[in-house]
Amino acid sequence: MTKITTIHTDSLELFDTHAHITSDFFSENAINVLKSSFYGKFPEKIENSSKFEKKWNFQISGILNVATSLDTSHEVVKLSSDFPQIYAAVGIHPNNIDDSSHDEWQEIIELSKNIKVAAIGETGLDRYWDTVPFEIQREYFERHLDLAKKRNIPVVIHSRNCDGDMLEILNNHAKLSPILGVIHSFSSSPEVAEKFLEMGLYISFSGSVTYSNKKFSQIRESAKTIPNERILIETDSPFLTPHPFRGKIEKNTPLMTAFVAQTLSGLRNCSIADIAKITTANARQIFGTQNNNVNTKKLNEK
Ligand SMILES: [Zn+2]
Repeated sequence: MTKITTIHTDSLELFDTHAHITSDFFSENAINVLKSSFYGKFPEKIENSSKFEKKWNFQISGILNVATSLDTSHEVVKLSSDFPQIYAAVGIHPNNIDDSSHDEWQEIIELSKNIKVAAIGETGLDRYWDTVPFEIQREYFERHLDLAKKRNIPVVIHSRNCDGDMLEILNNHAKLSPILGVIHSFSSSPEVAEKFLEMGLYISFSGSVTYSNKKFSQIRESAKTIPNERILIETDSPFLTPHPFRGKIEKNTPLMTAFVAQTLSGLRNCSIADIAKITTANARQIFGTQNNNVNTKKLNEK
């Protein structure tokens, strides 16, 4: 008997639309983390936890592995060529822009031509960590938006403490043509979500939707209102471990999207199987990963 985990027919397939499974966060463990997600294996501490009741088998059928720098852009492209389930997003995170970014940008453009690059990012704006001047963040955000449009692939957007600026910039772009993209780890109100939806964007929920503190309540309110066609799930691994395992494991991993799906099923009054089905189909739609063919991307009609 081999010890390879059987792929159960009653497994729920999940697609983690935002993870950072790279050596800077997972050192030499990155590959094992990916494999255990495909085999449906949660971190050991969780499998053994009294708080963990396994009613379903989960399996990660796709991961968008998101770069935050030139080095990680190279790495996610390499990993995506090693695993059919992995797709890459290349870009420079707004908090990582520095003097070398100008020269590195040309290489990001080259990498974006790779067949497994399914999105541009992580890009966006961040007024929480004020380490990079806002005008520079804005300039690079515009570059990422233009590159995504040129390649006809989605843009992965980070937006922290800057709803006003974000809406203004995206509105200017949306006036010209619909924006294919995702607001990742959505953390704002239903009113802000509505505006992003009007521009054609998808909304992705991370472990923060599982947190019960009052300051996260608007995320849960938003999660009730997103139409089925535009909702996605993610981990933002290694960050944002879902409740009740926050602080219990050192690093969040892609399979933990199961807990995000579980919370959404409660908030949206539907089964976890429905959430898995809807969000996986949406991920395949926006990232064009049907039958592993990244050329089937369609612009969201709107
Ligand atoms: Zn991220």
